Amino acid sequence: MSQAELIAHLRRLLGDRLLTEREDLVAYSRDASKLTRLPLAVAQPESEAEVVEIVRACLAHSVPLTPRGAASGLTGGAVPASGGLVLDLNRMNRLLSLDPDEQVAVVEPGMVVGELNRIAAKHNLQYAADPGSSAFCTVGGTVAENAGGMLAVRYGVTRDQVLALRAVIGTGEVIQVGRATRKDVAGYDLVSLMVGSEGTLGIITQIALKLTPLPDALATATVLYAEESGALSAAATLVRHRLPLRALEFMDRSCVRLVAETQRLSLPGVGREELAQGRWCLLLVECEGDTPEEARRRLGQVEEVLARSEGGGRFLPCPEGERERVWQIRKSLHGALFTQGLELINEDLCVPRTALPAFIGKIYSSWKKLLPELALFVYGHAGDGNLHIEGFSPPEQAGEVDRERIDELRQRLMEAAVALGGTISGEHGVGLTKTAYLGLMYGEAELSLMARLKRAFDPQGILNPGKILGEFSRKPGT
Ligand SMILES: Cc1cc2nc3c(=O)[nH]c(=O)nc-3n(C[C@H](O)[C@H](O)[C@H](O)COP(=O)(O)OP(=O)(O)OC[C@H]3O[C@@H](n4cnc5c(N)ncnc54)[C@H](O)[C@@H]3O)c2cc1C
Repeated sequence: MSQAELIAHLRRLLGDRLLTEREDLVAYSRDASKLTRLPLAVAQPESEAEVVEIVRACLAHSVPLTPRGAASGLTGGAVPASGGLVLDLNRMNRLLSLDPDEQVAVVEPGMVVGELNRIAAKHNLQYAADPGSSAFCTVGGTVAENAGGMLAVRYGVTRDQVLALRAVIGTGEVIQVGRATRKDVAGYDLVSLMVGSEGTLGIITQIALKLTPLPDALATATVLYAEESGALSAAATLVRHRLPLRALEFMDRSCVRLVAETQRLSLPGVGREELAQGRWCLLLVECEGDTPEEARRRLGQVEEVLARSEGGGRFLPCPEGERERVWQIRKSLHGALFTQGLELINEDLCVPRTALPAFIGKIYSSWKKLLPELALFVYGHAGDGNLHIEGFSPPEQAGEVDRERIDELRQRLMEAAVALGGTISGEHGVGLTKTAYLGLMYGEAELSLMARLKRAFDPQGILNPGKILGEFSRKPGT
């Protein structure tokens, strides 16, 4: 059947929930990576049964299919790289159940993470996977990316919250894997395989998630450092002391200066002008407890350990009622970075936490050697060893960008992370932008096994082709 027949078939199935107007196709051609490719059409299913129909129709026409949540992914996962159909899952956004006794919620994939958290909070519960994008990203997108976030140091990443899920795989079959129990070792762990599969193995249609009680009390502080190596050595020291942290975030001097300048932010005890001078990088530390005393006692332990460690941090406990203001420094960073011109580097590298001081040294030495003219910002989840590295060129210089040097810098950064025992992606996934680098981490045996797994779920290769494995999926002998 022709593509026109596919469109006619889907039109009968979905009516005006099949979009084919050019302006719609343009809107669905990109995600936060800013890569673009126009799809053939956009399908907006409202049920798993419709997803099955759509996958079967695409199979019959050998047309590729790209699932999409909020398109906030940073590696091009939701970009329809091979054209074909975009499957917009935002209409499947219902909370199907929430059991406060079992502390389990069952949701459709299009539910926004922040919305789930708002509902869970009414039961004094939280969904602890908390990416910076939680106000708009979908549960399905975070499961497909295995998203992390600012609470991962305490609660783990998305994979640690997913108990069970349903998905439509590339054969058009529906699978239901896992159980909404706290333990389950029956059969291979297909839940873990689906989590982080970036829409390449199946379309996730339902997810059972673990909820956790909201902490009764929080104690927060920022610690200012003159040098990034000092801040990250301090973070490594906290890890070595095994202190119970709820969050441990890092911002380099460029990031602190940027939010002070563009968002006009300050910290309790430190004015905006001082932060805007670019003298301070910082750690943001948070502890939780059953009582305010317990949370404060834990934060006091952090202060003691830091006072004894190298780096000379200036410890600023957050006064009562100022927590939101303090977190604003970290949470406003994404918005501030949008003002920085053309983004040329956006990496999300993760190393063993105690290797952070060595890693930051490698990041800065590679940058200064290869592309010192780039405005570089380094920040992230120090408690997980996960640093985001973003590099911008001012718009007026965009035409003169030296792609070779950018690629070389990206390669160096990823090689440095892998050499320290780390990974090319801590939480943003491989998508399109990192496929060429997967070979830094894996050899023939692992890559060919991944390609065979992909074929077992998606024999015709219609599900999000080109993502994760890229050229490795086409290697001879795989
Ligand atoms: C301001 C900002 C802050 C961010 N902060 C964080 C952070 O702290 N931690 C973090 O990990 N990430 C972060 N991200 C990245 C992004 O928000 C996450 O990757 C998020 O998981 C993407 O969710 P989404 O709904 O936007 O998915 P999309 O971008 O739409 O899709 C992501 C991937 O999932 C696939 N997919 C989507 N839905 C499904 C489904 N139902 N079934 C199968 N596959 C599907 C897509 O094909 C794609 O490959 C941030 C992004 C921004 C813009």
